[in-house]
Amino acid sequence: MIGNVSIVGAGTAGLIAAKALSRHGIRTTVYDQKHRLGRPPRASGILSIKGLGSLGIEYSRAVTNTLSGARIHAGGQTVSIKSKEPIAHVLDRPELNEICREEAESAGALVITGQRISGHALDRMSGSGILIGADGAVSSVAGHFSMGPIGRHALTYKAEYEVSSNDGMVDLFFDSAYKGLFAWLCPNSNDILEVGVGVDSRYGNGKRAFEHFIRSKDVAGIIGYSKPVSEGASMIPMSMRHRIVDESRGVLLVGDAAGQVKATTGGGIIFGGNAALIAAETIKRHMEEGASLKDYEDIFSRRYGMEMALHRAISAVYSNSGPGTIGLGLRMMRTIGLDRFLGDYGDMDMPSLMIKRFFLRGLSN
Ligand SMILES: Cc1cc2nc3c(=O)[nH]c(=O)nc-3n(C[C@H](O)[C@H](O)[C@H](O)COP(=O)(O)OP(=O)(O)OC[C@H]3O[C@@H](n4cnc5c(N)ncnc54)[C@H](O)[C@@H]3O)c2cc1C
Repeated sequence: MIGNVSIVGAGTAGLIAAKALSRHGIRTTVYDQKHRLGRPPRASGILSIKGLGSLGIEYSRAVTNTLSGARIHAGGQTVSIKSKEPIAHVLDRPELNEICREEAESAGALVITGQRISGHALDRMSGSGILIGADGAVSSVAGHFSMGPIGRHALTYKAEYEVSSNDGMVDLFFDSAYKGLFAWLCPNSNDILEVGVGVDSRYGNGKRAFEHFIRSKDVAGIIGYSKPVSEGASMIPMSMRHRIVDESRGVLLVGDAAGQVKATTGGGIIFGGNAALIAAETIKRHMEEGASLKDYEDIFSRRYGMEMALHRAISAVYSNSGPGTIGLGLRMMRTIGLDRFLGDYGDMDMPSLMIKRFFLRGLSN
């Protein structure tokens, strides 16, 4: 063993880091306040198939559905962006967490559940090795080590209904009631439909926005009087934390704790998981060759900084436009064939690839 790492938080980011560190021969302990990891499931699990491949997880037993596109609704307009191939899986989040835990443990990591870490325990952990904060949007590690705030949050509320409505497409609804994000209908499986909303915390409240959404004709006609089989509120960090490394105290943040989330959709597993892999590689080089822990921040920013910025820019466009303007944009998309282009060349995670293809090929096939 070449050193010690403590990880606070056994979500996907913490467990992916734990597996990679253990494989590098580093003694790794992960702590989580929950007894049952990933429960209750408050988040969705729509992940691009390509992005999932980059995480190196044997995820197949968590797949509950496969999607080939999205319908976007705003201002009375609807546009379908459909790919010829499946582009995303819907994963059962507690099952995904369990797979990540099994993989981390088989690599040699110790996972301790039912233990909340704060205060002096954090100082002890950073004093006796490296400490990774993978403890989600409201990170105790970031707070304790004064690593700055996350500027923007979305408040979410979602529920699952026993409704059969699966055509392999997710529906996204843009409206001023969900300013900053959107509302969605996602077939989690053949007989479970997820209904959710996210709204920028400056403009609204997740539960209230949800009540508005389920009363709308788009949803009421589908769920009727059925009662949800699960429901709950959560929060998504929508911007990066100012600092994600404290070199002198040996502290790194990964995943939602760092704000490594796509501002367009609130999806954080792919970027957070890849950040965890970069953090593990950097810690290995730090322990073996004295490399700076700051390399983690630099490498993440080189690989994903541009993509994160593009997600923020796209999100700023729809966050600052009313539904009428977005609807007009959708009509224009259809008229010029941008919907087909996005279906053929869109990338859920890396907008720059799409832009590159646009400049190489234009909209014509
Ligand atoms: C409604 C909703 C829908 C979403 N949909 C998607 C989606 O479709 N695709 C996608 O990619 N992402 C989605 N996300 C985002 C995704 O869920 C997060 O980006 C991801 O869970 C972040 O993983 P993480 O490991 O960084 O943090 P978390 O999953 O938040 O895990 C943090 C862990 O730390 C533990 N913890 C916290 N504090 C302490 C402490 N002091 N001591 C010990 N343990 C502690 C918690 O118990 C938790 O287990 C969604 C989020 C929400 C809310």
